[in-house]
Amino acid sequence: MIKFATRSLCLAALLLCSALVACSDDPKVNQPNVLLVVVDTLRADHLTPYGYTMNPTTPELQKLVDAEGLEVLPGLVAASSWTKPSMATLFTGLAPSQHGVMRLIGKNSKLKDMHTLAAEFKAAGYDTGCVMSNFLLTKRTKTGYDYGFDFYDDSTGTKQDPHRDSTAQVVTDSGLQWLSERDPDKPWLLVLHYFDPHASFEDHANVDWLDPGYQGWVTGGASTDTLREHEANCSSADRAALAAFYDEEIHAVDHQIGRAVEQLKSSQQWADTVLMFTADHGEELGERGHIGHTQTLFPELVDIPLMVRVPQPWKSAWDLPEAAGGGYQMTQLYPALMGVAGIELPAGRSASAPAYVAVEVDFEPVRKEHVEKYVQKRLVRDGSFTLIRDLRSGSEQLFDHAADPQMLAPLSDQHPKLQKLQALLDTHDWWEAP
Ligand SMILES: [Zn+2]
Repeated sequence: MIKFATRSLCLAALLLCSALVACSDDPKVNQPNVLLVVVDTLRADHLTPYGYTMNPTTPELQKLVDAEGLEVLPGLVAASSWTKPSMATLFTGLAPSQHGVMRLIGKNSKLKDMHTLAAEFKAAGYDTGCVMSNFLLTKRTKTGYDYGFDFYDDSTGTKQDPHRDSTAQVVTDSGLQWLSERDPDKPWLLVLHYFDPHASFEDHANVDWLDPGYQGWVTGGASTDTLREHEANCSSADRAALAAFYDEEIHAVDHQIGRAVEQLKSSQQWADTVLMFTADHGEELGERGHIGHTQTLFPELVDIPLMVRVPQPWKSAWDLPEAAGGGYQMTQLYPALMGVAGIELPAGRSASAPAYVAVEVDFEPVRKEHVEKYVQKRLVRDGSFTLIRDLRSGSEQLFDHAADPQMLAPLSDQHPKLQKLQALLDTHDWWEAP
């Protein structure tokens, strides 16, 4: 009898153990879905949740902030001021000196398979999908941004002229279609990459934010050559007109994010979905003589949005510590997303806070006629102070961006903070040309 009871107990314990193991092996039980929305060329200061009032660009995101627990995090700084290095950082969690991508073509233009976000999620049992609309990151460019994705729809990026037309709906349709076709028992990572706010800035029929009295050269859909021709001499009216069309593009993306969330709700997936909303870099709209990106490291190019919604069951796993001096660095998004999904970081990686924030650009244009656009700049931000060094001219500018958010008034070269930031800039591990 005793023998039988012992065996029964053992059997019961064994069954309980295997039930627990089965439980923990079932990824759906422990792992949230992750929707990572990356909007190309989106500066934070044009979004309603970041205090923008000129045009109501993002009503859907604001609704998520007001009613769905989407948290607005201030102070995310892009890894660089253009797509390739920033997206490489987002997809690997590595700084440009480590992932190596800084150039448009040739050596140092390809992402190596360095434990990409998609590869790690896939290894952890996730289905991985991406709808990529930037023409620089398509599969046919063989740049490696598709590593680890089961599904990588780059049909928008391979269009003849991807700068034209609104593509936000196509991106959303493709992502939602993929979600509807997968195994409902597996968790998923879906990256939706939107391109609309990238120039050219199209005129959208459903909103009209251009000043009706405006008489200048800016039109909806003005070509990038036209923008380049006028960029050095933008009046305040031209800048407002550029912003009006840029904002209409943001609004088109915002509408589609609302659609995606509605779809997740109606398919009973929203309660299990972490949403991260961010960008790769910002955009210059005629400030400082530029329209576009790559040329500077000023706030309009590197201060990007970061909004995150983590459902209650995973809140304790969410960890995004501020840099010691304040703000967030783009390298931190990878460990934060891995952590919330319960995925172990690859050896040598850390989720700990950086001591300060660093940004860099080394953009060498491919076309000879654009040689004047060759820029090499580095930035360090520590607390409210930012130092930018221009390697080509040898000049430096120090700003107190808390007191001067647009960084219009450089501080004196006798400022007591200068030496500390110069030391950070001198010793940081920057990307080096091959
Ligand atoms: Zn970009």
